[in-house]
Amino acid sequence: MLRVSILDGYVDEPTCLGVPPYISPYPRYIAGAVWDYDSRAAVSYFTIDQVRNDSSLVKNLAAADVLVVIAGMSVPGRYLSGFPVSPSELIALCHPLSRPVKLLCGPAARHGFGMAGGRSVTQTDVVKQVFDLIVPGDGEVVLTALLRNKLNPESLDVNQCRADPSDIRTYATKGARIVQNHPFYPDCLITELETYRGCSRSITGGCSFCSEPQKGLPQFRAVEDICAEVEALYTAGVRHFRLGSQPCLFSYMAHGVGDQEFPVPNPDAVERLFKGIRSVAPHLWTLHIDNANPGVLAAYPDECRQIAHTIVKYHTPGDVAALGVESVDPVVISKNNLKASAEDVLDAVRLLNEVGATRGVNGLPELLPGLNFIAGLSGETKHTFTLNYEFLRTIAEEGLLLRRINLRQVIPIPGTPMFESGNTTIRKHKAEFQRFKRHVRETLEQPLLKRLVPQGTLLTDVCTETYEGKLTFGRQLGSYPLLIGIPGIFPLHTFFNVKVIDYGYRSITALPYPLDVNTAARETLEALPGIGRKRALRLLLHRPFHTIGDLQRALDDPQLADTLTDYLGLK
Ligand code: SF4
Repeated sequence: MLRVSILDGYVDEPTCLGVPPYISPYPRYIAGAVWDYDSRAAVSYFTIDQVRNDSSLVKNLAAADVLVVIAGMSVPGRYLSGFPVSPSELIALCHPLSRPVKLLCGPAARHGFGMAGGRSVTQTDVVKQVFDLIVPGDGEVVLTALLRNKLNPESLDVNQCRADPSDIRTYATKGARIVQNHPFYPDCLITELETYRGCSRSITGGCSFCSEPQKGLPQFRAVEDICAEVEALYTAGVRHFRLGSQPCLFSYMAHGVGDQEFPVPNPDAVERLFKGIRSVAPHLWTLHIDNANPGVLAAYPDECRQIAHTIVKYHTPGDVAALGVESVDPVVISKNNLKASAEDVLDAVRLLNEVGATRGVNGLPELLPGLNFIAGLSGETKHTFTLNYEFLRTIAEEGLLLRRINLRQVIPIPGTPMFESGNTTIRKHKAEFQRFKRHVRETLEQPLLKRLVPQGTLLTDVCTETYEGKLTFGRQLGSYPLLIGIPGIFPLHTFFNVKVIDYGYRSITALPYPLDVNTAARETLEALPGIGRKRALRLLLHRPFHTIGDLQRALDDPQLADTLTDYLGLK
């Protein structure tokens, strides 16, 4: 029997996320290709974190006929529930495995390993000796060729890609059930869905730092194909979905691709897509989006307003359209062929606020913009940071809501114009960037967070993910979820409703709601507004409480007991 092992070292690209709780399309397509070739093949899937935590899994990898490793971070971030594989880790892991034919797929095979913002990528060559095939093309296409070639890797074209987006339909549906092997399956796993790849701005070369134009013009997947995949995932037990794998969701099936840098959005197609997903996955828990091009929203406000209304009609709240701003400095915009001016971005932010700022049932606004800035681009000066800060201040002063501000340093990716310039500007402005980041955090992000989720806001279905000291960290599942610290130790991968009590710069503190004062740990009680350490001890001494009256008698301030009713289950 054919045995194939998939090792997910995680991916994070501008147009695709596959770090837990997300699973990217890569392993699903790979599994689908194997099962399409041989429906009885044994396909195993492990994440790199599973292998780190259980060395016996290496035996499974060693016994396979084929080992497919998926890896590569082109826009590495900080992750809560997974740590991407490093090149040295891959070498140590794969070197002793002599039996399987070993393939490296994903962005690492195309552009190398991005380890952190502002640092050059580690070139793919460093892992060359431990792989039989480094696959810059489509992994599922090259793997199919390998299987047909009786596992002989000689003379295979590793650059092969699918000829047409419809080619992926069979693999996407057949491979959907591999999600059941993911450690976060079923309730805490989000599937990243691809609607298209390629950028319409590739006709002008695209933005200087971005690898997407290398994929050419957009190749849209048909609504029916995406819905068939969602149906297969839903049947396999998936309940969380994100339409995240595309440069701009508002440009799905846009008219004029190839003729115009900003093709005309197609609201009907977006409506058919969302409606179709809802009909095949009627009881899904999360349906979110990711990227949107602010230049498109500014150029076609009527079409994009209609699309935003469609998204809000069919999605689940707490959704985010991540806008690639990069910089509002006109010199940087021009030198890097960026997609939008400051005015364009402001228009896009206003439009999304107009349609999406209403608070939804999970406690968060329906659909908000997130803004991505990149430091280290050509033409950047110290004045650039002032312009970017002033722009953000304008948004805050106008009372607009933002879900997040993402500030990162560019990674010069091979094959992009930015690679030629290297990281000279990054090094030159290292201190300036850190100052800018701190200034934004301290003066803008916290007030924006307070506006986004005022104290006492009830946030539903927060999934606990990790511990730090006596804090449990969790997030709602979806696009760019808020990081929530819950004082106390609570079981992981469990869902809680919480009420907001306090703010960090980029995270909030919240307590489970309703809080059972009779069983809560001391550190949880201490975090209740107005309680603190001394009163928490007092509460511990006087438990159990059956009514608010009991609580009033135990506290030195009876009024305080009244305000606590907002957080407790007592009557
Ligand atoms: S618009 Fe720019 S950042 Fe967006 S996908 Fe195209 S090239 Fe990349």
